[in-house]
Amino acid sequence: MQKEAIIIVGAGPVGMTIAEMLTKQGISVTVLEKNNSPSKEWRASTFHAGTLELLESLGVTDELMKRGLIADKVQYRDRQTGLYAEFDFRHIQSETKYPFRLQLPQSTYVQVLYERLQECPHATIRFNAELLQVEQDEGGVTAVIQTPDGMERLRTPYLLGADGARSAVRKQLGLTFDGYTYEERFLLVGTPVAFDRYLPDLAYVNYVSDPEEFLFILRVPEAWRLLYPIPPAITDEEALDDENIQRSLQRALKTEDRFPIVERMIYRVHQRVAETFHKGRVILLGDAAHINSPMGGLGLNNGIHDAVDLGRRLIRILQSQSDQESELATYTTARRKVALDYVKEISEKNTKVMKEKDPEFRLRLQKEMAEQAKDPQRCRNWLLRSAMIASIREQGIGEPPAS
Ligand SMILES: Cc1cc2nc3c(=O)[nH]c(=O)nc-3n(C[C@H](O)[C@H](O)[C@H](O)COP(=O)(O)OP(=O)(O)OC[C@H]3O[C@@H](n4cnc5c(N)ncnc54)[C@H](O)[C@@H]3O)c2cc1C
Repeated sequence: MQKEAIIIVGAGPVGMTIAEMLTKQGISVTVLEKNNSPSKEWRASTFHAGTLELLESLGVTDELMKRGLIADKVQYRDRQTGLYAEFDFRHIQSETKYPFRLQLPQSTYVQVLYERLQECPHATIRFNAELLQVEQDEGGVTAVIQTPDGMERLRTPYLLGADGARSAVRKQLGLTFDGYTYEERFLLVGTPVAFDRYLPDLAYVNYVSDPEEFLFILRVPEAWRLLYPIPPAITDEEALDDENIQRSLQRALKTEDRFPIVERMIYRVHQRVAETFHKGRVILLGDAAHINSPMGGLGLNNGIHDAVDLGRRLIRILQSQSDQESELATYTTARRKVALDYVKEISEKNTKVMKEKDPEFRLRLQKEMAEQAKDPQRCRNWLLRSAMIASIREQGIGEPPAS
C-alpha cells in the first residue's frame, strides 16, 4: 500500500465521496479545501436511485434516507395548460430498492461525510489550503498549495481534482473544457411556504414549460425551491431584489401572497466536458470534469458515480492488482461516455422541452412526453435512464457492467 497520502483537491460532495471510499480501505488521503469549512450552500437537491444504490457500499444511504424526502413522481407541466405528463416511480419498483428521487440538499450529504472523515485515522482535511500548481514526474505528483502560513509543496502518488467547475487542476493540466453556456442566467429562490397550497397536486419535482419564463419547482425538507430564467434586460442586482422575487413567485403560484425568502442565488448553466479526465497520475472527477444543465438533477449524481468508479480502480491499482494506465484510460472513456451520452443528452432534452418557443414544436414535445409517461414500458425505460440506473447497468461503475 502507498506511503504518501493521496491528495484530493476539493471538500465538496465528490471529493468527500472518494475520500470516504478510499479511507474505508485503509488508504490515507489528504483533502485540500480552499475555504475555511465545508460549503453550507444547499445547491443540488436530488439523489437518484442509482446513486443511493452505489452509496450503500459507503454505508451512508440509510442516513440519507432518514434525512431526505421521497419524491415518488416527476411532473411535467405547461404554465398555461397545467399538468401534461407524470412519471410515476412505481413503474421501476421491481428494478430498485429506491423507486423515487430522494430530496436532500447536497450540504447535508457533505456534512454527513465530513463528520465521518473527522473520526477516521486515515483522513486529513486541510481547510484554507488552496491548490495553485501541479507538477508531475515519473514517480508521482507535487502539489503547490497556498496556506495562511505560506506556500507548501506536498508529494503524492495520485492527485485527484474534485475542485469544481473552475478547477485549478484542470487548468494546470491545460485541458480544454468544450461545450457551451446557456444564454440565460438562472435565479434559484427558496421559501418555507408550501407551494402545493397554490398549485394543487404538485409533485416534489416539477418541470414547467413556458416560452417566456419556464420554471423548475422542487422541494427539499427545509423549503420549496423555484428556479427561473432572468430576462436579459434585468441586472443581477435587480433580479435579486426582494420585490422582483415576490412578483416572480406570485406569477408562478398565481397569488398575491408574499413569501419569506430563505435562499436566493444566481447562476449560469453550461454543458461542458473536459477533453480527457486524466493525465498521468492527475485525475479529474465531478464538476471539474463535466458540468451540465440542472434540469434532471444529474450533476451531483454523476460526480458521485465518478468518485465510486475511480475509487474502485484506485483501490485495485494500489493493491497492485491492475495496471494504472489501462485502469485510468478506461475511467476516462467510460465516464466521458456517461457525461456525453447520458447526462448531457437527458439534461439538454429536459431544458429544451421547458423553454421551446415554437408553439407547434412545443406541443409535439409535450405530446411525446405525455405518451411516454402513460405507456408502462416506455415510462419504465425513461425512469431507468433518468434515475441513472441505465448508465450503471450499461457502462458499469469501476468494473464492467453485470451481464
Ligand atoms: C444552484 C445549483 C443547483 C444544482 N442542483 C443540482 C441538482 O438538483 N442535482 C444535481 O445532481 N446537481 C445539481 N447541481 C450541480 C451540483 O451542485 C454540482 O454538480 C456539485 O456541487 C459538484 O460537486 P463537486 O464536488 O464536483 O464540486 P463542488 O461542489 O464545486 O466542490 C468543489 C470544492 O473544491 C473547492 N476548491 C475549488 N478550487 C480549489 C482549489 N484550487 N484548492 C482547494 N479547493 C478548491 C471548492 O471550494 C469546493 O468546496 C446544482 C448546482 C447549482 C449551482
